[in-house]
Amino acid sequence: MSTASPTPVSTSPLTYPDLFIGGEWIAPTTDARITVSSASTELPLGTVPAATEADVDRAVAAARRAFDDPQGWSQWEPSRRAAALDRFADELSARKSETAVRVSAQNGMPIRFSSAVEGTVPSTVLRYYADLVRADPGPENRTSQVFGSTEVQRNPVGVVGAIIPWNFPQTLAFFKLAPALAAGCTVVMKPSSETVLDAMVVAEAAIAAGLPSGVLNIVPGSGRVAGAHLVAHPDVDKIAFTGSTDAGRGIAETCGRLLKPVTLELGGKSAAIVLDDADLPSTLKSMFAVSLMNQGQSCYICTRILVSRPRYHEFVDGLTEMARSLTIGDPLDKSTIIGPVATARQREIVENYIAQGVAAGARITTGGGRPADFDRGHYVEPTVFADVDNSFTIAREEIFGPVLSVIPFDDEDDAVRIANDSNYGLGGTVWTTDLDRGRSVAARVDTGSIGVNCYTMDHGSPFGGVKDSGLGRELGPEGLLAYQQYKSVYLP
Ligand code: NAD
Repeated sequence: MSTASPTPVSTSPLTYPDLFIGGEWIAPTTDARITVSSASTELPLGTVPAATEADVDRAVAAARRAFDDPQGWSQWEPSRRAAALDRFADELSARKSETAVRVSAQNGMPIRFSSAVEGTVPSTVLRYYADLVRADPGPENRTSQVFGSTEVQRNPVGVVGAIIPWNFPQTLAFFKLAPALAAGCTVVMKPSSETVLDAMVVAEAAIAAGLPSGVLNIVPGSGRVAGAHLVAHPDVDKIAFTGSTDAGRGIAETCGRLLKPVTLELGGKSAAIVLDDADLPSTLKSMFAVSLMNQGQSCYICTRILVSRPRYHEFVDGLTEMARSLTIGDPLDKSTIIGPVATARQREIVENYIAQGVAAGARITTGGGRPADFDRGHYVEPTVFADVDNSFTIAREEIFGPVLSVIPFDDEDDAVRIANDSNYGLGGTVWTTDLDRGRSVAARVDTGSIGVNCYTMDHGSPFGGVKDSGLGRELGPEGLLAYQQYKSVYLP
């Protein structure tokens, strides 16, 4: 464990006076501003304008003009859009270190992960969708079942409102921007107020890449006002949201009333099922990535670990040792594995859950408090709870912090029953030396994605949740379809 407090960033805070709307930096309608602070030093990192409803209106109008332009983005040949997206990917790649540093400084993600994920996924996903639309055969001609033929078109859905959380702000933004732009949509993106500085890098890259005016617009807003206004805006044709289940439910209600298509990527409480034949050393080696990555602030991670009763104590001991050995430190230090959680509020939420776990009778085997030797930063120790019953609040609600619940099970049926006894269904894993057995258990878990002896999100395959974890899918060709609508043209 590192013993040094994070070093305050010595450079002066970044100041963005203007908003990126209509392809240029323009003055906001008011002087309201968002100040972003470092999760580790708690010092200000920069400020950007807080977009008002009037600013959102201007951004939507710019996106609408760009979409409706008869010679514009939505009408371009897919190969021309693909070339523009490749240029955008190049410009983002050129800024990947800056992006990774901004993300880590803001939300506390260790730089080794933000460099590997936040710095690289945006350009990778852009290139994937550029290739996909380049290879798209276009409208399909079908022999009509009645008369003549039908041309089945897949057309861009229109102006997209993309609303992004703070935990993986770049990755989750490009899970939306890349397919939306590839499909020919134009976008108004609302980043989370905790992570707006990396979104400014996206604007800089878009300008450098020569994206046409209005194709991408960015409206940072504090609180829910700007986002809610974007969702209800009559000129926005589709909403793509990643965030909490509570906010998603409210957004879905608005979209339902307006009959507006919406994709919702929401919370999770996924289960890792460690079967009796699992190879414990290799399972434990993989456990950090599937359960504690980004201080537990990852939607898909397995925060409920279900372990076959005969292996339970052995596993708890190993997991405890693993969690205790993780290097806690400055997120900008390459050796750090566990940084601070993103905000003081988030730490308070996590600490409340830890207290609830103790009150319910669960046993802390490591962690449970704030690490010593950090006089600033929102740090929480990686915490393992043993003797957890799946009915405990810590096993039912998403904590979004480095807190794991280890729950014993009797047999496969019991494991599947506990895994499915959750309001959520986003990720999951099964650990076994028998791949066929792993696949058959995985098939019985109600979830949008699950791994056997691994969990590696694949940008070529659909990702999303069932139950309270969301609606619709991102990534893969299915993620492109989410930004297209079918039109049948009947021909003689
Ligand atoms: P949040 O719901 O508080 O906010 C997410 C975004 O929505 C922010 O930009 C916020 O300003 C905006 N927002 C909030 N309420 C809104 C409203 N009523 N109308 C319009 N916009 C609104 O979530 P968060 O705390 O930023 O992120 C953490 C949550 O995101 C966790 O629940 C996590 O599981 C979830 N998440 C899900 C996925 C997934 O793919 N399923 C991925 C990452 C995070």
